[in-house]
Amino acid sequence: MQNGLLVKYGEIAIKGNNRHQFENLLIQNIKERLERLGRYAITKEQGRLLVEPVGEERIEDAIEPLSKVFGIIGLCPASVFTEDSMESICNHTIEYLKETYGENPAPITFKVEARRANKKYPLNSLEIAAKVGERVLEAFPQWKVDVHHPQVIIWTELRNRVYVFSKILPGLGGMPVSPKNRAALLLSGGIDSPVAGYMIAKRGVELCAVYFHAHPYTTDRAKDKVIELARRLSVYSGNIRLYIVPFTDIQLDIYDRCPQDQLTIIMRRIMMRIAEKIARNEEAMALVTGENLGQVASQTLQSLYCTNAVCTMPVFRPLIGFDKQEIIQVAQKIDTYETSILPYEDCCTIFVAKHPETKPHLDRIEKSEQNLTNIEEAIEKAVAESECVTLRLGRQIEKEEA
Ligand code: ATP
Ligand code: MG
Repeated sequence: MQNGLLVKYGEIAIKGNNRHQFENLLIQNIKERLERLGRYAITKEQGRLLVEPVGEERIEDAIEPLSKVFGIIGLCPASVFTEDSMESICNHTIEYLKETYGENPAPITFKVEARRANKKYPLNSLEIAAKVGERVLEAFPQWKVDVHHPQVIIWTELRNRVYVFSKILPGLGGMPVSPKNRAALLLSGGIDSPVAGYMIAKRGVELCAVYFHAHPYTTDRAKDKVIELARRLSVYSGNIRLYIVPFTDIQLDIYDRCPQDQLTIIMRRIMMRIAEKIARNEEAMALVTGENLGQVASQTLQSLYCTNAVCTMPVFRPLIGFDKQEIIQVAQKIDTYETSILPYEDCCTIFVAKHPETKPHLDRIEKSEQNLTNIEEAIEKAVAESECVTLRLGRQIEKEEA
């Protein structure tokens, strides 16, 4: 009977002395996902984790949420038991196979792969595999052994308990997200920034997000779209505090006082400065953007140079070398694409110049910025007046809960 879910983790298995920390973090992240579904016990089992329903909960229900946890490379629904006589191992295996493939399954090729962590066990792994294979052939005479290219591998692992499984459902890989590693994502309503956030979160980083809202030029629908994107991203990354920054006054001031062709670069530089302040308040140590080399005028090498010049924190641009189509593929996989393409206006598109500078010079940009009205104060004010929305694991959290 499938009564447990074996969780395989990737890179954290090789983390040496820090391994316990990574395992504990992964366990914590798994617990948070499963809490809502009921009671599941999670135990460490020699380089794996085992998830078991405590009561009537089903292991099938745990698979979907756990397939979205960073750090997991594979999920194996398994039959887990303690009796380790050859007879009971074979019986459990046949029962497991009947449950998984049916009483009278279609012909397939298979091999049995045995592992024996307990070296005191009287049979070695080849002998165990041979015995189990024999019994499988008796039970399913239509099945054939193929040791080189089997369609199904039947794993029989003798650890503290015995594990039998034959399906490894892929996980996302990456590293478990830790609230101690934080970065601030500049989240627009576009396709790119949610994907950029996903990629950094995948490396174990918890995100907060910053959205620049130019009400009434950008409507509440545009804002709701960004909240929805953050919600979808939080399915993977866990907790996101999204700051909605009132940006209209600053944008109008830039529009009035700076040359048309520099609007976008100056706007982006001020976005970075505001995002850094919010990042500091959030104890984040880096910024993340969806910038990509060469897609638009604001993303030439010269433009990135000028934008980056105001930043004092590391700025991660995980999409820098991606083609648009590659970004779209990830957006579709993580289910943000459909929301991103909703046609609501963005503050960048409204205040954009007809002929933006593609090769801006830093000294000229800095000079133009001197025309702005009390920009330091305006930045402080925008930060202070930001609205904060909290998203957690795909749910918007009401103020009292947050
Ligand atoms: P995206 O699809 O993420 O909007 P893009 O290709 O449209 O990216 P730009 O509009 O030039 O490119 O924006 C580049 C990056 O700047 C975005 O990926 C995002 O990180 C940040 N950004 C742009 N506009 C905003 C905004 N209104 N609020 C927050 N961040 C923004
Ligand atoms: Mg955009």
